[in-house]
Amino acid sequence: MNHRVCPQCGSEHIDFETGYITGKYRCLDCGYVGSVIFEFDDTNYDRFLKQLRGEEDK
Ligand SMILES: [Zn+2]
Repeated sequence: MNHRVCPQCGSEHIDFETGYITGKYRCLDCGYVGSVIFEFDDTNYDRFLKQLRGEEDK
């Protein structure tokens, strides 16, 4: 399963806003707005969340 997550806080509560030129994503949790979004599979999503929390995956 793929996860589309906020690059700032790792939340999956992402809204897609269609703008006049390009669409942007909006995070419903931290308020991030931008055209960059991360997509992970389960393994990489886990790893990303750990990095966000400052836990290194060794
Ligand atoms: Zn966020």
